[in-house]
Amino acid sequence: MSDKYDVVVIGSGPAGYVAAIRAAQLGLKTACVEKWQKDGKMVNGGTCLNVGCIPSKALLDSSHKYHDAAHAYQSHGIVTGEMSVDVPAMIARKEKIVAQMAGGISGLFQANGVTSVFGSGRLLAGHKVEVTAADGSVQTLEADNVIIATGSLPINIPVAPVDNDVIIDSTGALELQEVPKRLGVIGAGVIGLELGSVWGRLGSEVVVLEALPDFLAMMDKQIAKESLKIFKKQGLDIRMGARVTGSEVKDGQVTVSYENGEGTQQETFDKLIVCVGRRPYTEGLLAPDSGVNLDERGFIFVDDYCATNAPGVWAVGDVVRGPMLAHKGSEEGVMVAERIAGQKTAMNYDIIPNVIYTHPEIASVGLTEEEVKQSGEPYEVGTFPFMAIGRAVAADQAEGMVKIVAHAETDRVLGCHIVGPSAADLVQQVAIAMEFGSSAEDIGMTVFGHPTFSEAVKEAALAVHGHAIHMPNRKKRK
Ligand code: FAD
Ligand code: NAD
Repeated sequence: MSDKYDVVVIGSGPAGYVAAIRAAQLGLKTACVEKWQKDGKMVNGGTCLNVGCIPSKALLDSSHKYHDAAHAYQSHGIVTGEMSVDVPAMIARKEKIVAQMAGGISGLFQANGVTSVFGSGRLLAGHKVEVTAADGSVQTLEADNVIIATGSLPINIPVAPVDNDVIIDSTGALELQEVPKRLGVIGAGVIGLELGSVWGRLGSEVVVLEALPDFLAMMDKQIAKESLKIFKKQGLDIRMGARVTGSEVKDGQVTVSYENGEGTQQETFDKLIVCVGRRPYTEGLLAPDSGVNLDERGFIFVDDYCATNAPGVWAVGDVVRGPMLAHKGSEEGVMVAERIAGQKTAMNYDIIPNVIYTHPEIASVGLTEEEVKQSGEPYEVGTFPFMAIGRAVAADQAEGMVKIVAHAETDRVLGCHIVGPSAADLVQQVAIAMEFGSSAEDIGMTVFGHPTFSEAVKEAALAVHGHAIHMPNRKKRK
């Protein structure tokens, strides 16, 4: 059997499903192929909805509520009794949210006229996609354009092979049915910090082992330093320069060996999460004559507009270069759908917000101070602590700061870096300003509501010129 479409998308994660919906909105006959199944049923939404962004945030929110009730309510005059955690109930709540969100995608497909095709897709020559269903039946979809959006998988390391029992990856860490007494985490990246926080808040003694010497090396240094200080105060044991060299599972526990400056060390844990990055998912995807090339790191090679080297074949999301972020893939999906429809859409890769959902959150957009310094452009920096923000003090969330980096001559905002309350939402304000080419002065002249956390953004912008009102300025300017 063969069906002809304008667009066939392979993968229904945030890159693929958004591409499919946008293509259908533009009047293109669109199908989306997905192989993920749960309990024998096709599941849309990819990593993000099923085992990534959404379930991790559900558990981050639940664990934060528990932690606040156990440790933070007293200072507000709220007296709680003895507290306990029902982990299976917490996990069941997360599952319900996941099912609700994934069901939402199916509803959106129906509403927009996207045809959902269940099975594993393989790109053949000539824009054909062979789909093998779970029962082994095969159909071929023909298309004028194919969009590959097959995402990524966790990286496995031979020194700590995942057994889905004692040694787990991020997916396993979202499914634990009890709080491990001692939890090891390999990798102090985004997942290590988020999932380490979840189980740490619920009572695990968490040790994070990170091979690199610097904490959050890709972040602005000042914000990374401030974040580390806060996490240490929270009791998260983060060991930098700790390279894991081996692991041994015995009697339901794992002993991890790692090397640091002082030699070989060992730690024993009840569970070990391996989160050392993700790799592009291309297994079984490309027939030898599909004409699509991979780059040297195994990602599908694409140009600035996500076109592969095979005409009419595009690739978006985690399976191509760039940050592995849901919103980055979604925007690529929109861009590609619109380009297929004949529009000239381009994506601004310079302004992609990045958030780590710890408490407090860490968020950034644009260039770090170090990157601007390295570029040789003259720049000014403005910082403002949440400690001087009334709303933050009232909420007992006064840790952290906002930092804005602006060009010294044009005053154009080049980057914003935040650790503090609602950092994810605050950084988005600056992302919008940057998208419109805003100067620090423009932000400083904008009227911000009082009292809000966002006043820290305004004050940091004012501080770029030494005009912050609610703290003494280091630079004194008229
Ligand atoms: P995916 O979401 O991985 O989707 C790809 C889909 O393609 C999958 O459903 C897969 O089954 C399907 N597929 C693969 N091969 C085939 C094939 N041959 N045939 C048919 N279907 C196929 N990002 C954020 O921006 N914010 C966050 O807060 C965040 N939190 C995260 C937390 C965790 C624990 C993890 C693991 C990731 C998180 N991410 C977060 C990253 C985010 O999930 C990914 O960047 C995003 O899901 C990538 O989207 P995608 O559509 O490219 O790929
Ligand atoms: P990551 O790249 O963020 O961090 C991995 C860390 O592991 C790095 O710091 C690396 O130096 C360290 N590492 C690698 N090998 C090691 C070893 N042998 N021993 C000790 N440390 C080692 O990767 P991740 O945390 O697995 O996340 C994967 C991707 O998922 C990220 O690229 C991220 O973009 C995405 N994600 C995003 C969010 C979010 O946006 N909030 C949340 C989760 C995941």
